[in-house]
Amino acid sequence: MKADKTVPVQKNEKHTVKIEDLTHEGMGVAKIKGYPLFIEDALPGEEMEVKIHKTGKSFGYAKSMNRLTSSQNRVEIKDANFTRAGITPLQHMHYPAQLAFKKEQVKKVIKRIAKLPDVKIFDTIGMAEPWGYRNKAQVPVRKVGEKLMTGFFRRNSHDLIPMEDFYIQDPKIDEAILKVRDIMRTYNVKPYNEKENTGNLRHIIVRRGYYTGEMMIVLVTRTAKLFPVSKIIPDILEALPEVVSIVQNVNPTRTNTILGEDAIVLHGEDKYTDTLLGKTYEISHRSFYQVNPTQTEKLYNVVLDYAALTGEETVIDAYSGIGTITLSLADKAKHVYGIESVEPAVENAKANAALNHVDNVTFEAGLAEEVMVEWSKEGRKADLLVVDPPRKGLEGQFIDAVLEMKPTKMIYVSCNPATLARDLALLAEGGYTVEKIQPVDLFPQTNHVESVTLLTLKD
Ligand code: SAH
Repeated sequence: MKADKTVPVQKNEKHTVKIEDLTHEGMGVAKIKGYPLFIEDALPGEEMEVKIHKTGKSFGYAKSMNRLTSSQNRVEIKDANFTRAGITPLQHMHYPAQLAFKKEQVKKVIKRIAKLPDVKIFDTIGMAEPWGYRNKAQVPVRKVGEKLMTGFFRRNSHDLIPMEDFYIQDPKIDEAILKVRDIMRTYNVKPYNEKENTGNLRHIIVRRGYYTGEMMIVLVTRTAKLFPVSKIIPDILEALPEVVSIVQNVNPTRTNTILGEDAIVLHGEDKYTDTLLGKTYEISHRSFYQVNPTQTEKLYNVVLDYAALTGEETVIDAYSGIGTITLSLADKAKHVYGIESVEPAVENAKANAALNHVDNVTFEAGLAEEVMVEWSKEGRKADLLVVDPPRKGLEGQFIDAVLEMKPTKMIYVSCNPATLARDLALLAEGGYTVEKIQPVDLFPQTNHVESVTLLTLKD
């Protein structure tokens, strides 16, 4: 960042500031002569001595050196590395304050971006025990010193901070990572070296069914070889009896994307199962599956409640993944059509329908924006459209198709309030009323905000 004459502070200067607000990332905001400084581990109302770390034209970053007063919403942190790595950026915030912060994030964008200040936004639905909830971990592997280490990257870098306890993951997953790590050390498997594009093991991924206890291990390697695989597999199975599937995913590319195109199944099949709201689901190593199972059930119950189905409805579930929302709605609808772009997830969804004896569902593999355009051109109708897009939200083309098809009701499950607000503005302009929004905390200790919005078509 380059310095500017109007910037009132300089790098390495010390200042005493009072925190006024929080950014959507959960950083404290203090102002010096109107110039905003963003500070990690800082809560509104707190006074602290900070050191200027970075300055840009319109804002800068500072580090807290000495806290002079503490907010009543402050709790003791588990480990400062977790804030540094961006894993638990809200760990210093009392949980009820985290829930209020998330509601506030939704409120802000609904007012500022969607320009819908009157929409009813409920209190965030929280978790009784907001730790140890994640059913999936993807942990980078690097050489640190002379050893193969697992840990986490420092924020905005690829410097590995070795870690053994992740606090927000299922403790059985933390344990599995260490056991797999030790087996890899025993056989001298070479950790990946990003700079030189040498070594082999890039990531260890562990997924575990919350209700079933079934575990899947994915070893992401740079090359297709993994030696001595005939020893590694039995060792993993012995150390971790819950493992039903071991997959080697090969990623030779020099990118940040974790998974490569090719995979070799080393044990079992490329799937493990879990249950959700009483139904059983198969999940492949490539398929998306919500990471917080008990909160996901609460989220889906909100969807079911907003859907208020009678059994007569034709429903479209866009971005359907392995069909979890689709099958949950199917019990109370005439027919539900799922749309999903990742092929293995569509395969899972079809198998899941059969597994649960649900026959009033159809899954379409394709891009939601393309399928919706096609379906609206064909004159197909829906009583309810559910969408659950990734962080970037809905494509313009998708929204145009919705406004063409005019489903009577729409439920928008969002993991990003900013794109939600942008899309709601367009849908409101196109004739929908935004009725209400229910935030649900799927990611305690992090700044991620999930919500369910109900929209109805004005007649
Ligand atoms: N509703 C599911 C999945 C939500 S995650 C659940 O609750 O588990 C979003 C899903 O959208 C992922 O499965 C992802 O693969 C899929 N996806 C991403 N972009 C897409 C697109 N353009 N068209 C269709 N599906 C897409």
